[in-house]
Amino acid sequence: MSTDGMNAKQMLAHYQEVLDEEARAAKRDGKPVCWSSSVAPSEMCVAMDVAMIYPETHAAGVGARKGALDLLEVAEQKGYSIDICSYARINMGYMELLREKALTGKTPAKLQDSPAADVPLPDLIITCNNICNTLLKWYENLAVELDIPYIIIDVPFNHNMPVAEHNKDYIADQIRHAIRQLESICGRPFDYDKFLAAQEQTQRSVTQWNRIASFLHYKPSPLNGFDLYNFMALIVCARSRDYAEKTFKAFADELEAKLQAKQYAFADNEKFRVSSEGIAVWPYLAHAYKALRAMGALMTGSSYPDTWNLAYMPGDLRDMAEAYSKTYMNTCIENRGQVLSDIVTNGQCDGLLLHLNRSCKLMSFLNPESAEIVQKNTKVPYVSYDGDQTDPRNFSPAQFDTRVQALGEMMTEAAATGGKV
Ligand code: SF4
Repeated sequence: MSTDGMNAKQMLAHYQEVLDEEARAAKRDGKPVCWSSSVAPSEMCVAMDVAMIYPETHAAGVGARKGALDLLEVAEQKGYSIDICSYARINMGYMELLREKALTGKTPAKLQDSPAADVPLPDLIITCNNICNTLLKWYENLAVELDIPYIIIDVPFNHNMPVAEHNKDYIADQIRHAIRQLESICGRPFDYDKFLAAQEQTQRSVTQWNRIASFLHYKPSPLNGFDLYNFMALIVCARSRDYAEKTFKAFADELEAKLQAKQYAFADNEKFRVSSEGIAVWPYLAHAYKALRAMGALMTGSSYPDTWNLAYMPGDLRDMAEAYSKTYMNTCIENRGQVLSDIVTNGQCDGLLLHLNRSCKLMSFLNPESAEIVQKNTKVPYVSYDGDQTDPRNFSPAQFDTRVQALGEMMTEAAATGGKV
C-alpha cells in the first residue's frame, strides 16, 4: 500500500502494522523471525532478510493501551518476581500465552482480550547489553524456554570516555561472531552488500531522526517532546529500513512548515520548558502530558533523541561498534551528567523531571546523582517521581502532580528572581 497522501502520524501507524505483518508472513512462510532488544545492532538481521520484532516496543504498546496488568499477572503466576523489569515480565507473559496457543491450538482468554499487537513467537533472538544487563538474563530465559538460538552482542560498560580502542575491537569481533551465527541459523552465506546497504540506510534514518529532535531547540518550539515517544517506535524497529527515514522526513518537513508559519506546539502559552529524563510511564502518558500542559510546561528536553543518534561510517565495523557502545546509559556518571546537561541547555529548559523507574535499576540509581551534576552545570531546578514504565501499580498520579507542581513553583521563583536556582 502506498503512503502517498499520508501525513507523518498516518505513516507511523502504517509502517508499524507493516512490520508486524511482515513478521506474521515470515512465520507463515517458514522464514525466521527474530526478537531483538531495542538498541541491539539491527543491520545484520536486515542484511539477511530476517523479520524483526522488538519486545520493548511491543510491551510499551501494551502498556499504553492499558493491557499490561493481564500479561504481568501471567508472568508473576509463572514465578517471575515483581522486581524484574516490567518490559521483561510483559514479554514473558506474552510468550507464555503464545506458547499455550501453539500447544493447544486455542487462543487463551487473556490473549483474546489483550490490546497487545499480534506478533509471532521468535525463531532466534538477539540482544545487546548497551542499555542494561537485565536484557541478558531476560533473553537467555526466552532462548531456554523456547529452545532457540541466542545471539549476544556483549558491550563493556564505558567507565571512562571516549570508548577504549580495545573495546571497539572486542565489540567488532562480537558483530563478526553474530554474522557467523546468522549464517549458521539461516543456512546461507552472509550478504555483505546488503549489510553495507543496511548500514547506509541506518545513517539516513538517524539523520532524519536528528532533524526532528533539532526542532526542540527553537523557542518557541513547533515540536512537543511527547511526540518523540510515538515516533521513537520506528527508530527502534525500522532504523535499518527505509520506513523510518521516510516517516521521519515527512514529520521533519511538517515541523519545518509549522516553524515557517509560526505555528508552535503551545500556541498560547509556552510558559516553561522542561526536560524529562527516564522512560515514559506508558499507562499514564496522557496524565503526565495534561499535568505539564496545565501549567504551560512544554517538554523540550529528552534523552531519547541522543540514545538513537547512532552515527557511524558505513563499512567501518569499529566505528559501528563505537556508536553502539556509547549510548549514554552505558557510560560513566561524568559523561552521563554532561549528556543530560547538554540536553537541558540545548532545549533551553527551565526545569528537569526525573523518573525513578522501579523497572530500570541502573537508570534510576544514577538519576539523583546525575541531576545534581545537571543542576550544578545548568542551575535549573529538578524534581523526581516514582514510577514504572509499564507496571501501573507502581505509579501514583497524585504524587506525580505534587512533584510537577513543586517544579512549577521552583521554575516560577527562578524566573521571578531573574536567574536560576
Ligand atoms: S531494565 Fe531498563 S533498560 Fe533494561 S529492558 Fe528494562 S526498561 Fe529497558
